[in-house]
Amino acid sequence: MQVYFDNAATTALDPRVVEAMVEIMEFNYGNPSSIHAHGRQVKTIVERARKTVAGLLNTSPSEIFFTSGGTEADNTAIARGILDNGISHAITSPLEHHAVLHTLEALEQSGAIKLSLLDVDRLGRVDVQQLEQLLANNPRTFVSLMHANNEIGTLTDIEYISALCKQYRSIFHSDTVQTMAHYVHDLTKLQIDFVTGSAHKFHGPKGVGFLYINHQTKIKPFIYGGAQERNMRGGTENVYGIVGLAKALEIAYSEMDDHQRYIQGLKDYMIAQLREHIPDVRFNGDITPENSLYTVLNVSFPCTDMSDMMLFSLDISGISASGGSACSSGSDIGSHVLQAIGADPGRPSVRFSFCKNNTREEIDFVIGKLKALCLEKA
Ligand code: PLP
Repeated sequence: MQVYFDNAATTALDPRVVEAMVEIMEFNYGNPSSIHAHGRQVKTIVERARKTVAGLLNTSPSEIFFTSGGTEADNTAIARGILDNGISHAITSPLEHHAVLHTLEALEQSGAIKLSLLDVDRLGRVDVQQLEQLLANNPRTFVSLMHANNEIGTLTDIEYISALCKQYRSIFHSDTVQTMAHYVHDLTKLQIDFVTGSAHKFHGPKGVGFLYINHQTKIKPFIYGGAQERNMRGGTENVYGIVGLAKALEIAYSEMDDHQRYIQGLKDYMIAQLREHIPDVRFNGDITPENSLYTVLNVSFPCTDMSDMMLFSLDISGISASGGSACSSGSDIGSHVLQAIGADPGRPSVRFSFCKNNTREEIDFVIGKLKALCLEKA
């Protein structure tokens, strides 16, 4: 059996998304910037996709900018949000994805900002009181806090934080890459400055995402070139990707309740099975359903002598999971997230992340392998 439990790294394309993209690939090859019929036809397709995304997020199409993915959207929101608004202080947490952390660190190193890192607890929750104190002492700050952590799944109350940022006239960006299409984002209600999405996290294609920019928040163009994306991001649009992204988001929204219930059920089942079969199993991050992204489960195993071998052993058993962010694999420093929440470095941790295509039978198979691995080493 081959099991794919690494859906926080990327997801399989939904066949309906493939179908929508192939149709455009075959028949709609015009350049959306061309003014002739072939171009106009494709321009209409891109704008229809933008309208779909905006409609689902309850915002205006003029606030949606297509990008090459979550990383570009995060980089743009942070760098342009800070540099174009005369911001000299930023607040984030040590748990952010590197698309956020490294961008802010580069700005700090260049001397553009002073960067404050919020304290986090063992469950991966940021210190909101400290945030308020910092905001009160530094008005017009840039705040970047992710909605759900991609490694441990802990959710942050971005509604509360957006209200706090409004109160202190600060700019708020949230990396929503892991929650986009998994929860309803009502951007009119949220009153946030920037959110980001990446299609490959919700059964869409890789290499395409979007940045929402609140119309009251002003930034300069982020890629100079042609007039694409209303002069903000030059370069011929990734038309197939954009169509796939909109289709994937549309499908996710129409099936969201069923998927949430089903995937949360899988996660609950995996937690129960682990507790039953693996003595002294622990979990990294908050696993209560109301405070935890339902697609992610980060497990800390007792078999300490398996530290370097756990993922490899799972892999050769046909199970794809991960030790943390896929973007950081290949670096020899362990997970910055697990380190920041004080997880025991002696115990191997594995992130299992689920999607609508996974089954209980797959969980049973994985539990069987884990049992063998841990007991063999006990
Ligand atoms: N932010 C988070 C929380 C992520 O999990 C990821 C992808 O792993 C990204 C940003 C980057 O997105 P992309 O792969 O589209 O560049």
